[in-house]
Amino acid sequence: MTDTSAGTGVYDELDKRPAPLAVPDRALAIGAHPDDIEFGSGGTLAKWAAAGCRVTMLVVTDGSKGSWDPQTDPAELAATRIAEQKAAADRLGAHEVRHLERVDGELEYSMDLRREMCRQIREVRPDVVLSHDPWQRYQLHPDHRATGWAVMDGVIAARDHLFFPELDLPAHRPAAVLLWSADEPDHWEDITMAFDDKIAALLCHSSQGTTTMGGAELSDENRDVFVARMTEWARNQGAAAGLDTAESFKRITP
Ligand SMILES: [Zn+2]
Repeated sequence: MTDTSAGTGVYDELDKRPAPLAVPDRALAIGAHPDDIEFGSGGTLAKWAAAGCRVTMLVVTDGSKGSWDPQTDPAELAATRIAEQKAAADRLGAHEVRHLERVDGELEYSMDLRREMCRQIREVRPDVVLSHDPWQRYQLHPDHRATGWAVMDGVIAARDHLFFPELDLPAHRPAAVLLWSADEPDHWEDITMAFDDKIAALLCHSSQGTTTMGGAELSDENRDVFVARMTEWARNQGAAAGLDTAESFKRITP
């Protein structure tokens, strides 16, 4: 006999979902490196931008270590990556890209970095902040960890006016924080209509083709493999929520 009182996995997950988010008026996505934002939330941002959201992208480091080529000049690479990021942002329909240009790979969590995140949030005044999940287990990249912590603590600081009064900016409380690469996602965005934009934006980062996209810039065949990998990724992201193509997040209400 079948026990029909037991949950069926998928519906248990659906029950845990917080209410859907309305398209925000303003969103601020913060990534450690050029292309991190696109991998984590490019589809969501493209979808929101198309619906009228003012999207700001903030890239913390200069991306100057993003190469396996021993002949690479770090300064040249950093300049290339700023241009690639602008092209990707345009492809997503973002309103603005900001760069902090901290040295790639050497980012450290500090009060200075927390203050900077507070300043950015108070200036942009987003309804939703998106970034790396600093609680993700076994996250190797130090810049991803440092960025995630500084964003979380920057959200708290931005919210409470007694933090960093020297900034002389009014406090601001986002309605939600969405963290990508979460071990325990509880929020999903359907990106079916924006998946092509996410891929196109990622492919704007040509200098990263070899390191993160399987040589997608070198041949049509490689690019097809990369798109297939991303399609599978988006399917896996959405599976727990019954969506075909999604980005998943841990959602926090500040
Ligand atoms: Zn990164």
